[in-house]
Amino acid sequence: MIEITLVRGDITQQHVDAIVNAANSSLLGGGGVDGAIHRRGGPEILAECRALRASHYGKGLRTGQAVATTAGRLDARHVIHTVGPVWSREEDRSALLASCYRESLRVAAELGAGTVAFPAISTGIYGWPIDDGARIAIRTVRAAAVAPITEVRFVLFDEHAYKAFETAL
Ligand code: ADP
Repeated sequence: MIEITLVRGDITQQHVDAIVNAANSSLLGGGGVDGAIHRRGGPEILAECRALRASHYGKGLRTGQAVATTAGRLDARHVIHTVGPVWSREEDRSALLASCYRESLRVAAELGAGTVAFPAISTGIYGWPIDDGARIAIRTVRAAAVAPITEVRFVLFDEHAYKAFETAL
């Protein structure tokens, strides 16, 4: 059984095997969660991201995909970088958002992670409405989390996001 837990807080402070980064396709850092992870995790993570760009992702990581690096100075062992879709009123991109959760879990399981922490992907700078983003996150994780993963923790930065996940759960 996989346990889905919700905490209000900062994802960079979590004691889990893997934390997921809401990255952008460049993999070279940005604002929001991405900025916080690189600031606290130190330069080792960015160095590995640069190497990944050079070796495998010349054009950047595609939306909905995920790739892992070291977690540098963070407590976690791995950072899994995934690229969420930018919210669109005209186009339904929910399959891409679901893919971020699914692919991140696939990578986490491959790495042997037992515990994985997610932020609310795409709901910050990328503008996804939090209630909808929370529903997609919970639904996808419920369907996709596999052994050896035993806990998926959503780490919500503010009360509003926490409430949205609580309702979705
Ligand atoms: P995106 O570009 O995918 O929207 P953001 O980093 O802008 O990514 O935001 C994603 C979500 O993460 C937002 O709900 C934001 O409030 C939240 N967030 C920002 N910093 C942190 C943090 N340190 N820990 C957990 N969540 C965070």
